[in-house]
Amino acid sequence: MPAKIAVLGAGTMGAGIAQLAAGSGHDVLLYDIKDEFVQRGLERTRAVLQSRVDRGKMPQEELDALMARISTTTNRDDAANADFIIEAAPEDLDLKREIFSSLSKLCPPETVLCTNTSSLSITSIASAAECPERVVGMHFFNPAPVMPLVEVVAGRQSSPDAVQAVLGLAAGLGKTPVQAADSPGFIVNRVARPFYGEALKMLGEGAATVPRIDAAMRAAGFKMGPFELMDLIGIDVNFAVTKSVYEAFFGEPRYRPHPIQQRMVEAGTLGRKTGRGFYTYEEGRQGDPVPSRIVSIPHKREAGFVPTEISEEFVLKAHIAAELEGDAEITARILAMIINEAASAVGESVASVRDIDTAMKLGTNYPKGPLRWGDEIGLDLVFAVLSSLRESLGEERYRPAPLLWQMVMSGTTGDAVGSGFHTPGEKGMV
Ligand code: NAD
Repeated sequence: MPAKIAVLGAGTMGAGIAQLAAGSGHDVLLYDIKDEFVQRGLERTRAVLQSRVDRGKMPQEELDALMARISTTTNRDDAANADFIIEAAPEDLDLKREIFSSLSKLCPPETVLCTNTSSLSITSIASAAECPERVVGMHFFNPAPVMPLVEVVAGRQSSPDAVQAVLGLAAGLGKTPVQAADSPGFIVNRVARPFYGEALKMLGEGAATVPRIDAAMRAAGFKMGPFELMDLIGIDVNFAVTKSVYEAFFGEPRYRPHPIQQRMVEAGTLGRKTGRGFYTYEEGRQGDPVPSRIVSIPHKREAGFVPTEISEEFVLKAHIAAELEGDAEITARILAMIINEAASAVGESVASVRDIDTAMKLGTNYPKGPLRWGDEIGLDLVFAVLSSLRESLGEERYRPAPLLWQMVMSGTTGDAVGSGFHTPGEKGMV
């Protein structure tokens, strides 16, 4: 049944969510603080849809009907009779707390209040409301009409009914919802951290170059290498997410941002959008890698610190083609850290095994869920890679997650023994 949905903020995300909701037949009210901002959002939406009409992918009448379902306002009180309010205002805790405080006084008790925050605590936003039980995180990915995943995040006080309502809304919008606890980075922004962090760490050590690390990860089945992807996301945006997760975990070394990224932000070389990041760009096309000031040390084994036989076996079992000498070590190092991060999220009850794997496939386009991958490779081998890194580099960031440790100690090491995070032939939880 169509619902009344108010979207607060007509920027990148708000306009996309409004388009998605109207496209699914809901009545949408789009709010922003100034009429020019609402109109700008609406125009962007119209332009995206018009190009679909021009390419024969959508009838003009469908565009007109969709746009007719979106009304606009600059008076927030108009949102009072919505069934769901989805807030997509700037990422500022004080601003969001003010919005939820006044919304909670305005709306009847049935209204479900959602926030699209990427990095702020749902619990903290909700606690400003008179009815924190009605506040739920509804984390869309950019572009909202296209990306299939929504993370539904329960704050400490969110009621099960409100969470169920948001799961239902997301499914009704044609999305695949996953449930996450209110923990820094939720699922995707946490489990994805090592893809960037470990690549930067290897670059900083002089263990491998930017194009080589990118090529190794593409060979492993990722659509883009970590440096190409950071350039696309924006070095500043990626750095801000890493910093926010690091700080929210009170300095946990696994998430420590890398000074290489900080210097790039200071220099204003932010990736594609500035024409220069880890690579140069001309008219949007990727050119040469920017020469690195980091010197590779010839007598150090390239990408080293994981014994060759372990990394080669790891890559073999992960069904990855590692064609160049040394690439197996790059791949094993990054992938083992991603699997370890996913295991730590399961161990800390951030989400189920199934939801973590689904989130990483749909939210970041990973070729396989990291826990499924861990089962295929063998958790004992993942453990061996991490232990070798921890011993040779002497850094706590490589310590195996307690759950991984327990599973290895109890012989629950994946597909080879018929039991791991997933059981063979079944895609759910163990
Ligand atoms: P944006 O800057 O494109 O849009 C924010 C909009 O909010 C602007 O139009 C601004 O005028 C409006 N605004 C300002 N004050 C407001 C207020 N008091 N009430 C309502 N609207 C107000 O930002 P965005 O990228 O759309 O991000 C919005 C939210 O979505 C943030 O919380 C962000 O973390 C989250 N998010 C962003 C992405 C992304 O990739 N951009 C992805 C997922 C989630």
